[in-house]
Amino acid sequence: MKILVIDDSKAIRMLIRECVTAMGHEVIDAATGMEALACIQDHDVDLALMDVEMPGIDGFETTTRIRELKKEDWFPIIFLSSKTDDDAFTRGILAGGDAYLNKPIQPLRLQLQITAMERIYTMRRELHRAHQQLLQAQQELLRANEELKKLSLYDQLTGLANRRHFDEALAREFNLARRNKNPLSLIICDIDFFKPYNDRYGHQKGDSCLSKVALLLAGAFNRPTDLVCRYGGEEFTIILPDTDLAGVKLFAEKLRNAVWEGDIAHEASTVAGRITLSLGTATYTGQYQSVDAMLKAADDALYRAKANGRNRVESA
Ligand code: GH3
Ligand code: MG
Ligand code: MG
Ligand code: MG
Repeated sequence: MKILVIDDSKAIRMLIRECVTAMGHEVIDAATGMEALACIQDHDVDLALMDVEMPGIDGFETTTRIRELKKEDWFPIIFLSSKTDDDAFTRGILAGGDAYLNKPIQPLRLQLQITAMERIYTMRRELHRAHQQLLQAQQELLRANEELKKLSLYDQLTGLANRRHFDEALAREFNLARRNKNPLSLIICDIDFFKPYNDRYGHQKGDSCLSKVALLLAGAFNRPTDLVCRYGGEEFTIILPDTDLAGVKLFAEKLRNAVWEGDIAHEASTVAGRITLSLGTATYTGQYQSVDAMLKAADDALYRAKANGRNRVESA
């Protein structure tokens, strides 16, 4: 251990140093309370041997200040004093001391007291280390849980919210809209002729096309409450709280245009030489009895967009 000896008498410091180094411990010393406080800032002290009567701040005051300074970081403090009355003993312990030995110093008693304190100190340090490890494990668990949650709510290919996330969000927003009598809009979009795209360019290109479309869609958002999801395959859904029919038509048009402007080549498309989207929208203003009814309305609108020539928006 690194032991700090605090005593204004040089002779006593020398005597204590001898006792302590004989046990194999390292010694640093201080002649005043202030010096001791400075030492504690600079060194990792494991135990202190504290005189009581010193010029400047006495051993009681020094101990009180050490305890304040090192609130989290306890180490044993043993008083060594010729003041042997109950009052001095009481003050020493209440100031934060752990043991109180009388002067003149009895080397054997001092050494055994240090041994006893070292036992407690070591146990405490190991407990502290175990506690730190536990905290670290807890942090790692939290991080793993976050990661798991992310995996369970987000689509791996595109990074967009997944179907499950969408289902939960739509149910929540539907209930909110019903309760607050607010409009709620939904868009379902589907890439046109995506099977021919895969057939023409291969599945890998197909995947990277899906990622590009996802980026284009996500980039078109301006409200933090809007949610864009990969509904499955080459279909995407967008939830737009507080958005009426005129609003959703405009927004769907903006999405259609964003993908058009993305200009992803698609030579097998009969609509255009590039990737296009068909979109169906539905807007809740109290008419749908359930989320499923609203989804079906958007899906029917999408079907009409396909039937009417693709690369267009139709609204329920
Ligand atoms: P339509 O214009 O009528 O929507 O025609 P389509 O070919 O896009 O429609 P269809 O539903 O027949 O085909 C969808 C295709 O999307 C089928 C499948 O090969 C492809 N697809 C679905 N999921 C993925 C995916 O994760 N990766 C890739 N590369 N292709 C996918
Ligand atoms: Mg003294
Ligand atoms: Mg489809
Ligand atoms: Mg399609």
